[in-house]
Amino acid sequence: MDKTGQPNTMSHTASAMGRRWSFSIGTVKGTAVRIHATFLLLLAWAGLSGWLSAGPAAALHIVTLLVLVFVCVVLHEFGHIFAARRFGVRTPEVVLLPIGGVSRLERIPDEPRAEFVIAIAGPLVTLAIALVLLMVLGRMPTVEEIQQGQGWHGLMAQLAYVNIALFLFNLIPAFPMDGGRVLRAGLATWLGHTQGTRVAAGIGQACAVFLGLMGLLSGNIILVLVAVFVYFAAGSENGIVALRDITAGKPARDSMIDNFVRLHATDPVAAAASALIHSDQREFPVVNREGCLAGFLSRDGIIRALAGPGQDTAIAEVMQEIPQVSQWTRMDEIVPMLTGGAAAVGVADDDGRCLGYITWENLMEELMISRALRGRPSPGSTAPAKTGH
Ligand SMILES: [Zn+2]
Repeated sequence: MDKTGQPNTMSHTASAMGRRWSFSIGTVKGTAVRIHATFLLLLAWAGLSGWLSAGPAAALHIVTLLVLVFVCVVLHEFGHIFAARRFGVRTPEVVLLPIGGVSRLERIPDEPRAEFVIAIAGPLVTLAIALVLLMVLGRMPTVEEIQQGQGWHGLMAQLAYVNIALFLFNLIPAFPMDGGRVLRAGLATWLGHTQGTRVAAGIGQACAVFLGLMGLLSGNIILVLVAVFVYFAAGSENGIVALRDITAGKPARDSMIDNFVRLHATDPVAAAASALIHSDQREFPVVNREGCLAGFLSRDGIIRALAGPGQDTAIAEVMQEIPQVSQWTRMDEIVPMLTGGAAAVGVADDDGRCLGYITWENLMEELMISRALRGRPSPGSTAPAKTGH
Protein backbone atom coordinates (compact mmCIF):
# COMPACT_ATOMS: atom_id res chain seq x y z
CA MET A 1 0.00 0.00 0.00
CA ASP A 2 1.16 3.47 -0.64
CA LYS A 3 0.18 6.87 0.48
CA THR A 4 1.97 9.97 -0.46
CA GLY A 5 1.84 12.89 1.90
CA GLN A 6 -1.00 14.19 -0.11
CA PRO A 7 -3.87 15.90 1.49
CA ASN A 8 -6.71 13.81 2.69
CA THR A 9 -8.30 13.71 6.07
CA MET A 10 -7.23 10.17 6.75
CA SER A 11 -3.56 10.73 6.02
CA HIS A 12 -3.98 13.96 7.95
CA THR A 13 -4.43 11.94 11.14
CA ALA A 14 -2.14 9.17 9.95
CA SER A 15 0.71 11.61 9.41
CA ALA A 16 0.43 12.95 12.95
CA MET A 17 0.31 9.40 14.30
CA GLY A 18 3.15 8.31 12.04
CA ARG A 19 5.54 10.89 13.35
CA ARG A 20 4.75 10.57 17.01
CA TRP A 21 5.29 6.83 17.30
CA SER A 22 8.09 6.26 14.82
CA PHE A 23 11.86 6.46 14.92
CA SER A 24 14.48 6.81 12.23
CA ILE A 25 16.73 3.87 11.34
CA GLY A 26 18.79 5.72 8.74
CA THR A 27 18.78 8.10 5.81
CA VAL A 28 19.12 7.21 2.13
CA LYS A 29 19.92 10.11 -0.22
CA GLY A 30 18.05 12.64 1.90
CA THR A 31 15.08 10.42 2.79
CA ALA A 32 14.80 9.31 6.41
CA VAL A 33 13.53 5.74 6.83
CA ARG A 34 11.35 5.60 9.92
CA ILE A 35 9.79 2.57 11.57
CA HIS A 36 6.50 2.88 13.37
CA ALA A 37 6.45 1.38 16.86
CA THR A 38 3.45 -0.79 15.97
CA PHE A 39 5.57 -2.55 13.34
CA LEU A 40 7.97 -3.66 16.09
CA LEU A 41 4.98 -4.78 18.16
CA LEU A 42 3.85 -6.88 15.19
CA LEU A 43 7.34 -8.44 14.96
CA ALA A 44 7.38 -9.21 18.68
CA TRP A 45 3.85 -10.62 18.61
CA ALA A 46 4.56 -12.81 15.56
CA GLY A 47 7.84 -14.06 17.06
CA LEU A 48 6.25 -14.85 20.40
CA SER A 49 3.22 -16.64 19.00
CA GLY A 50 5.46 -18.60 16.59
CA TRP A 51 7.67 -19.66 19.50
CA LEU A 52 4.72 -20.71 21.68
CA SER A 53 3.00 -22.71 18.95
CA ALA A 54 5.96 -24.29 17.12
CA GLY A 55 9.21 -23.53 18.93
CA PRO A 56 12.21 -21.24 18.40
CA ALA A 57 12.93 -22.26 14.79
CA ALA A 58 9.41 -21.27 13.75
CA ALA A 59 9.76 -17.98 15.63
CA LEU A 60 13.03 -17.22 13.82
CA HIS A 61 11.41 -18.10 10.49
CA ILE A 62 8.41 -15.81 10.89
CA VAL A 63 10.50 -12.88 12.18
CA THR A 64 12.99 -13.30 9.28
CA LEU A 65 10.11 -13.40 6.79
CA LEU A 66 8.54 -10.23 8.23
CA VAL A 67 11.88 -8.38 8.18
CA LEU A 68 12.43 -9.43 4.54
CA VAL A 69 8.89 -8.31 3.62
CA PHE A 70 9.72 -5.03 5.35
CA VAL A 71 12.85 -4.68 3.18
CA CYS A 72 10.76 -5.36 0.05
CA VAL A 73 8.24 -2.69 1.08
CA VAL A 74 11.07 -0.20 1.63
CA LEU A 75 12.43 -1.01 -1.85
CA HIS A 76 8.93 -0.49 -3.28
CA GLU A 77 8.73 2.92 -1.60
CA PHE A 78 12.17 3.87 -2.89
CA GLY A 79 10.89 3.03 -6.38
CA HIS A 80 8.41 5.90 -5.92
CA ILE A 81 10.97 8.11 -4.21
CA PHE A 82 13.67 7.80 -6.88
CA ALA A 83 11.10 8.25 -9.65
CA ALA A 84 9.88 11.41 -7.90
CA ARG A 85 13.45 12.74 -7.73
CA ARG A 86 13.62 12.62 -11.50
CA PHE A 87 10.80 15.20 -11.51
CA GLY A 88 12.51 17.34 -8.90
CA VAL A 89 10.31 16.19 -6.00
CA ARG A 90 12.14 15.46 -2.76
CA THR A 91 10.86 13.01 -0.13
CA PRO A 92 11.91 13.94 3.41
CA GLU A 93 10.78 10.67 4.97
CA VAL A 94 9.19 7.28 4.54
CA VAL A 95 7.37 5.67 7.48
CA LEU A 96 6.91 1.91 7.74
CA LEU A 97 3.59 0.90 9.29
CA PRO A 98 2.31 -2.66 9.73
CA ILE A 99 -0.06 -1.97 6.80
CA GLY A 100 2.74 -0.83 4.49
CA GLY A 101 4.94 2.11 3.65
CA VAL A 102 3.96 5.75 3.62
CA SER A 103 6.25 8.01 1.59
CA ARG A 104 5.92 11.66 2.38
CA LEU A 105 6.54 13.27 -0.98
CA GLU A 106 6.81 17.05 -0.83
CA ARG A 107 4.20 17.24 -3.55
CA ILE A 108 2.78 15.14 -6.38
CA PRO A 109 3.13 16.77 -9.75
CA ASP A 110 -0.25 17.48 -11.37
CA GLU A 111 1.35 16.69 -14.69
CA PRO A 112 -0.14 13.27 -15.64
CA ARG A 113 3.05 11.79 -17.06
CA ALA A 114 5.02 12.56 -13.89
CA GLU A 115 2.28 11.14 -11.66
CA PHE A 116 2.07 8.04 -13.81
CA VAL A 117 5.81 7.37 -13.67
CA ILE A 118 5.99 7.99 -9.90
CA ALA A 119 2.95 5.79 -9.19
CA ILE A 120 3.99 2.87 -11.39
CA ALA A 121 7.63 2.80 -10.19
CA GLY A 122 6.75 1.20 -6.83
CA PRO A 123 4.76 -1.77 -8.21
CA LEU A 124 7.45 -2.30 -10.88
CA VAL A 125 10.07 -2.68 -8.14
CA THR A 126 7.81 -5.19 -6.36
CA LEU A 127 7.28 -7.11 -9.60
CA ALA A 128 11.05 -7.13 -10.25
CA ILE A 129 11.71 -8.58 -6.77
CA ALA A 130 9.10 -11.29 -7.35
CA LEU A 131 10.61 -12.19 -10.75
CA VAL A 132 14.15 -12.37 -9.33
CA LEU A 133 12.94 -14.66 -6.52
CA LEU A 134 11.08 -16.87 -9.01
CA MET A 135 14.19 -17.07 -11.18
CA VAL A 136 16.29 -18.12 -8.19
CA LEU A 137 13.65 -20.71 -7.27
CA GLY A 138 13.54 -21.87 -10.89
CA ARG A 139 9.73 -22.35 -10.93
CA MET A 140 6.44 -21.22 -9.40
CA PRO A 141 6.32 -22.21 -5.74
CA THR A 142 3.74 -24.86 -4.81
CA VAL A 143 0.98 -24.25 -2.29
CA GLU A 144 2.69 -26.64 0.18
CA GLU A 145 5.97 -24.74 -0.08
CA ILE A 146 4.20 -21.47 0.66
CA GLN A 147 2.16 -22.91 3.54
CA GLN A 148 4.99 -24.85 5.19
CA GLY A 149 7.81 -22.49 4.24
CA GLN A 150 10.63 -24.79 5.31
CA GLY A 151 14.23 -23.59 5.17
CA TRP A 152 15.64 -20.96 2.84
CA HIS A 153 13.79 -22.41 -0.12
CA GLY A 154 10.43 -22.11 1.63
CA LEU A 155 11.30 -18.61 2.81
CA MET A 156 12.03 -17.50 -0.76
CA ALA A 157 8.81 -19.14 -1.98
CA GLN A 158 6.84 -17.22 0.66
CA LEU A 159 8.60 -13.97 -0.14
CA ALA A 160 7.89 -14.38 -3.86
CA TYR A 161 4.22 -15.05 -3.04
CA VAL A 162 4.01 -11.95 -0.80
CA ASN A 163 5.55 -9.76 -3.51
CA ILE A 164 3.15 -11.03 -6.16
CA ALA A 165 0.24 -10.37 -3.79
CA LEU A 166 1.61 -6.86 -3.03
CA PHE A 167 1.98 -6.17 -6.74
CA LEU A 168 -1.63 -7.17 -7.49
CA PHE A 169 -3.01 -5.38 -4.43
CA ASN A 170 -1.22 -2.15 -5.36
CA LEU A 171 -2.64 -2.23 -8.85
CA ILE A 172 -6.26 -2.17 -7.64
CA PRO A 173 -7.46 0.97 -9.45
CA ALA A 174 -8.51 2.87 -6.31
CA PHE A 175 -6.94 5.49 -4.06
CA PRO A 176 -4.75 5.28 -2.07
CA MET A 177 -3.33 2.32 -3.97
CA ASP A 178 -0.79 3.03 -6.69
CA GLY A 179 -3.30 1.71 -9.24
CA GLY A 180 -5.64 4.59 -8.35
CA ARG A 181 -2.94 7.13 -9.18
CA VAL A 182 -2.01 5.33 -12.39
CA LEU A 183 -5.68 5.42 -13.39
CA ARG A 184 -6.06 9.08 -12.48
CA ALA A 185 -2.93 10.00 -14.45
CA GLY A 186 -4.31 8.15 -17.47
CA LEU A 187 -7.73 9.82 -17.22
CA ALA A 188 -6.20 13.23 -16.50
CA THR A 189 -4.39 13.31 -19.84
CA TRP A 190 -7.71 13.80 -21.64
CA LEU A 191 -10.13 14.87 -18.87
CA GLY A 192 -7.92 17.23 -16.90
CA HIS A 193 -6.81 16.78 -13.29
CA THR A 194 -10.07 17.58 -11.50
CA GLN A 195 -12.43 15.68 -13.79
CA GLY A 196 -9.93 12.81 -14.11
CA THR A 197 -9.82 12.53 -10.31
CA ARG A 198 -13.61 12.55 -10.09
CA VAL A 199 -13.93 9.67 -12.54
CA ALA A 200 -11.01 7.77 -10.95
CA ALA A 201 -12.57 8.20 -7.51
CA GLY A 202 -15.88 6.83 -8.83
CA ILE A 203 -14.15 3.78 -10.31
CA GLY A 204 -12.23 3.33 -7.03
CA GLN A 205 -15.45 3.42 -5.02
CA ALA A 206 -17.05 0.89 -7.36
CA CYS A 207 -14.00 -1.35 -6.81
CA ALA A 208 -14.39 -0.88 -3.07
CA VAL A 209 -18.04 -1.95 -3.20
CA PHE A 210 -17.04 -5.02 -5.23
CA LEU A 211 -14.23 -5.88 -2.76
CA GLY A 212 -16.61 -5.39 0.16
CA LEU A 213 -19.21 -7.72 -1.37
CA MET A 214 -16.54 -10.34 -2.06
CA GLY A 215 -15.38 -10.01 1.54
CA LEU A 216 -18.92 -10.40 2.87
CA LEU A 217 -19.70 -13.39 0.66
CA SER A 218 -16.46 -15.17 1.54
CA GLY A 219 -16.61 -14.16 5.20
CA ASN A 220 -13.25 -12.36 4.92
CA ILE A 221 -13.50 -9.52 7.44
CA ILE A 222 -10.10 -8.04 6.49
CA LEU A 223 -11.25 -7.61 2.90
CA VAL A 224 -14.37 -5.82 4.15
CA LEU A 225 -12.24 -3.45 6.26
CA VAL A 226 -9.92 -2.74 3.31
CA ALA A 227 -12.98 -2.02 1.16
CA VAL A 228 -14.37 0.48 3.68
CA PHE A 229 -10.97 2.18 3.90
CA VAL A 230 -10.62 2.35 0.10
CA TYR A 231 -14.15 3.71 -0.27
CA PHE A 232 -13.50 6.66 2.02
CA ALA A 233 -9.97 7.30 0.76
CA ALA A 234 -11.29 7.61 -2.80
CA GLY A 235 -13.92 10.11 -1.69
CA SER A 236 -11.43 12.17 0.25
CA GLU A 237 -8.94 12.29 -2.63
CA ASN A 238 -11.75 13.65 -4.77
CA GLY A 239 -12.56 16.29 -2.12
CA ILE A 240 -8.97 17.44 -1.87
CA VAL A 241 -8.55 17.93 -5.59
CA ALA A 242 -11.83 19.83 -5.72
CA LEU A 243 -10.63 21.95 -2.80
CA ARG A 244 -7.36 22.78 -4.53
CA ASP A 245 -9.35 23.58 -7.62
CA ILE A 246 -11.68 26.13 -5.98
CA THR A 247 -8.95 27.83 -3.91
CA ALA A 248 -6.19 27.83 -6.55
CA GLY A 249 -4.64 31.24 -7.03
CA LYS A 250 -6.74 32.91 -4.34
CA PRO A 251 -5.07 34.88 -1.54
CA ALA A 252 -5.36 33.80 2.10
CA ARG A 253 -7.61 36.75 2.96
CA ASP A 254 -10.39 35.34 0.73
CA SER A 255 -10.65 32.11 2.74
CA MET A 256 -9.74 33.14 6.27
CA ILE A 257 -11.97 33.41 9.33
CA ASP A 258 -11.88 37.13 10.11
CA ASN A 259 -14.70 37.43 12.62
CA PHE A 260 -13.39 35.79 15.78
CA VAL A 261 -12.49 36.11 19.43
CA ARG A 262 -8.77 36.37 20.09
CA LEU A 263 -6.91 35.55 23.29
CA HIS A 264 -4.00 37.48 24.76
CA ALA A 265 -0.77 35.67 25.50
CA THR A 266 -0.40 37.25 28.95
CA ASP A 267 -3.97 36.43 30.08
CA PRO A 268 -4.56 33.38 32.30
CA VAL A 269 -6.04 30.11 31.02
CA ALA A 270 -9.24 31.06 32.91
CA ALA A 271 -9.82 33.79 30.29
CA ALA A 272 -9.53 31.15 27.54
CA ALA A 273 -12.04 28.92 29.35
CA SER A 274 -14.42 31.87 29.60
CA ALA A 275 -14.03 32.60 25.86
CA LEU A 276 -14.80 28.95 25.14
CA ILE A 277 -18.08 29.21 27.03
CA HIS A 278 -19.16 32.63 25.73
CA SER A 279 -18.40 32.13 22.05
CA ASP A 280 -19.08 29.30 19.61
CA GLN A 281 -15.41 29.10 18.64
CA ARG A 282 -13.53 25.90 19.38
CA GLU A 283 -10.09 27.31 18.66
CA PHE A 284 -8.53 30.67 19.36
CA PRO A 285 -5.64 32.62 17.89
CA VAL A 286 -3.44 34.08 20.64
CA VAL A 287 -1.95 37.55 20.10
CA ASN A 288 0.77 39.49 21.88
CA ARG A 289 0.64 43.12 23.03
CA GLU A 290 1.31 44.42 19.50
CA GLY A 291 -1.59 42.37 18.10
CA CYS A 292 0.73 39.96 16.27
CA LEU A 293 0.00 36.25 16.30
CA ALA A 294 1.82 34.54 19.16
CA GLY A 295 0.23 31.09 19.04
CA PHE A 296 -2.95 29.10 18.97
CA LEU A 297 -5.11 27.38 21.56
CA SER A 298 -7.73 24.72 20.81
CA ARG A 299 -10.60 23.54 23.01
CA ASP A 300 -8.65 20.38 23.86
CA GLY A 301 -5.62 22.52 24.70
CA ILE A 302 -7.72 24.65 27.06
CA ILE A 303 -9.19 21.57 28.78
CA ARG A 304 -5.72 19.99 29.13
CA ALA A 305 -4.33 23.26 30.55
CA LEU A 306 -7.17 23.49 33.09
CA ALA A 307 -6.60 19.91 34.22
CA GLY A 308 -2.80 20.23 34.21
CA PRO A 309 -1.02 23.55 34.84
CA GLY A 310 -4.25 25.18 36.11
CA GLN A 311 -6.39 28.19 35.29
CA ASP A 312 -3.92 30.80 36.60
CA THR A 313 -1.19 29.79 34.14
CA ALA A 314 -0.48 32.31 31.37
CA ILE A 315 -1.90 31.32 28.00
CA ALA A 316 1.59 31.85 26.49
CA GLU A 317 2.81 28.80 28.41
CA VAL A 318 0.18 26.36 27.12
CA MET A 319 -0.50 27.60 23.56
CA GLN A 320 0.80 25.78 20.49
CA GLU A 321 2.70 27.19 17.53
CA ILE A 322 1.10 27.48 14.12
CA PRO A 323 2.51 28.68 10.80
CA GLN A 324 1.76 32.25 9.80
CA VAL A 325 1.36 33.69 6.31
CA SER A 326 0.70 37.08 4.78
CA GLN A 327 -2.86 37.95 3.74
CA TRP A 328 -1.64 37.82 0.13
CA THR A 329 -0.12 34.32 0.35
CA ARG A 330 -1.82 32.07 -2.15
CA MET A 331 -4.00 29.19 -0.96
CA ASP A 332 -1.91 26.80 -3.06
CA GLU A 333 0.79 27.15 -0.39
CA ILE A 334 -1.59 27.05 2.57
CA VAL A 335 -3.58 23.87 1.82
CA PRO A 336 -0.42 21.68 2.11
CA MET A 337 0.38 23.27 5.51
CA LEU A 338 -3.01 22.17 6.86
CA THR A 339 -2.78 18.70 5.37
CA GLY A 340 0.78 18.46 6.68
CA GLY A 341 -0.53 18.57 10.25
CA ALA A 342 -0.82 22.27 11.18
CA ALA A 343 -3.83 22.89 13.47
CA ALA A 344 -4.46 26.19 11.69
CA VAL A 345 -2.62 28.82 9.67
CA GLY A 346 -2.51 32.40 10.98
CA VAL A 347 -2.97 35.23 8.51
CA ALA A 348 -1.19 38.56 9.10
CA ASP A 349 -1.87 42.00 7.60
CA ASP A 350 0.88 44.03 5.96
CA ASP A 351 2.10 45.27 9.36
CA GLY A 352 2.33 41.73 10.74
CA ARG A 353 -0.76 41.98 12.95
CA CYS A 354 -3.11 39.01 13.23
CA LEU A 355 -5.90 39.46 10.70
CA GLY A 356 -7.50 36.02 10.73
CA TYR A 357 -6.84 32.30 10.51
CA ILE A 358 -7.64 29.32 8.31
CA THR A 359 -8.60 25.86 9.53
CA TRP A 360 -9.34 22.61 7.76
CA GLU A 361 -13.00 22.88 8.77
CA ASN A 362 -13.49 26.27 7.21
CA LEU A 363 -11.92 25.08 3.95
CA MET A 364 -14.35 22.15 3.98
CA GLU A 365 -17.23 24.61 4.41
CA GLU A 366 -15.94 26.60 1.45
CA LEU A 367 -15.90 23.40 -0.58
CA MET A 368 -19.48 22.52 0.42
CA ILE A 369 -20.66 26.03 -0.51
CA SER A 370 -18.93 25.83 -3.86
CA ARG A 371 -20.45 22.43 -4.60
CA ALA A 372 -23.93 23.58 -3.59
CA LEU A 373 -23.68 26.58 -5.91
CA ARG A 374 -22.40 24.46 -8.78
CA GLY A 375 -25.15 21.91 -8.27
CA ARG A 376 -27.86 24.53 -8.88
CA PRO A 377 -30.11 23.44 -11.74
CA SER A 378 -30.17 26.72 -13.71
CA PRO A 379 -26.82 26.97 -15.51
CA GLY A 380 -27.36 30.63 -16.33
CA SER A 381 -27.59 31.66 -12.68
CA THR A 382 -24.84 33.99 -11.57
CA ALA A 383 -22.73 32.36 -8.92
CA PRO A 384 -20.61 34.70 -6.81
CA ALA A 385 -17.11 35.26 -8.19
CA LYS A 386 -15.76 33.61 -5.04
CA THR A 387 -16.57 30.10 -6.25
CA GLY A 388 -14.03 30.36 -9.04
CA HIS A 389 -14.30 28.39 -12.24
ZN1 LIG B 1 3.36 2.16 -3.84
